[in-house]
Amino acid sequence: MKTINDFNFENKKALIRVDFNVPLNEQFEVTDDTRIESAKPTIIKILEDGGSCVLMSHLGRPKGVEEKFSLKHIVDAVTRVIGVQVKFVEDCIGTTVEEAVANLENGEVLLLENLRFYAEETAGDIAFAEKLSKLGDVYVNDAFGTAHRAHASTTIIAQFFPTTKCFGSLLAKEIESIDKVLNNSEKPVLAVLGGAKVSSKITVIENILDKVDHLIIGGGMTFTFVKAQGGSVGDSICEDDKMDLALEILEKAKAKNVQIHIPVDVLAADAFSNDANTQVLDVTQIPEGWQGLDAGPKSLKNFKNVVNQCKTILWNGPLGVFEMENFAKGTIALGNAIAEATEKGAFSLVGGGDSVAAVKQFGFGDKVSYVSTGGGAMLEMLEGKTLPGIEAILK
Ligand code: AMP
Repeated sequence: MKTINDFNFENKKALIRVDFNVPLNEQFEVTDDTRIESAKPTIIKILEDGGSCVLMSHLGRPKGVEEKFSLKHIVDAVTRVIGVQVKFVEDCIGTTVEEAVANLENGEVLLLENLRFYAEETAGDIAFAEKLSKLGDVYVNDAFGTAHRAHASTTIIAQFFPTTKCFGSLLAKEIESIDKVLNNSEKPVLAVLGGAKVSSKITVIENILDKVDHLIIGGGMTFTFVKAQGGSVGDSICEDDKMDLALEILEKAKAKNVQIHIPVDVLAADAFSNDANTQVLDVTQIPEGWQGLDAGPKSLKNFKNVVNQCKTILWNGPLGVFEMENFAKGTIALGNAIAEATEKGAFSLVGGGDSVAAVKQFGFGDKVSYVSTGGGAMLEMLEGKTLPGIEAILK
């Protein structure tokens, strides 16, 4: 696996695909610069080697050129995070851009305009990728968030750099962390899968059964498993058409010697609202008019015991409706247990969509071993897929 550490960037222009798809407020200010911070180590290494950086990214889903999606809005934020005045060019291909790149000196950083102002980017257009490839001596992919897309700047471009392409340090760390969980893990291995629906996690569950010793299934998925086994789930979220699948998963887990842990009790509410009346109920006896919105105390005790025994922990998806304060306790308790296990030496990886939001919201970010930056990309890796953006560098 070639990374930026295999190259000396002195007098070289690095063309870096970053993921600066950051949230902006109504004044077009960056409200969360995590993604910029994540790309910083790669940029700094290249500048310290004596090279320069050409940064390319997408922002949002523009239809053609849309001013509100211009990357000019983030120039100040990137300048602040990187500590170098960032230059900006109002296009991402063509002569003006090529001139700006030619004038770029060692130690300088140039940000290109939103790649998605061209439909060719997401279409994976080869001619567009070739034009982009003129903008650097070395191609560096550091955008995990889009590594599962075969777009021009994330995948197709790599063929124009047969020997001068590599992973940035963020992408390398993402790959190593997932590999540590899936292939080089210290046993026992635990996966905690929460979130809303079985249907969106099914391929992950199937792939992960070959890799783990314990699987905690929580969140809204709980009720499909409980109802499939004959329990009453009341008004809880439940996918009736996935009940057979749930039973199959339980059978497969048994055959593979994977211990499955499902909540035994829940905090149920009489409405999907933070102000609803609540009671703790046996997960198999939820009456009509009530729905399970968080794991109950007995379940949390069980989960904590399992977490404590494990040396490798993967966490994807919240245990309850954590966006509402009254149903966030299960997710917080799980986060605390994983933080404790990490302190005692376990390797913990959190990733995939909402669990990252939960981890940040409740301040566990620096108490777990690694927080993945890519939601969809991480889920696809957990499903056992090879991501096109990663494959293109390895080729
Ligand atoms: P996912 O994107 O699949 O990880 O799902 C995350 C969402 O699952 C969050 O918005 C949670 O509010 C939701 N969720 C977790 N537990 C439940 C539950 N018991 N009932 C309904 N939604 C839930």
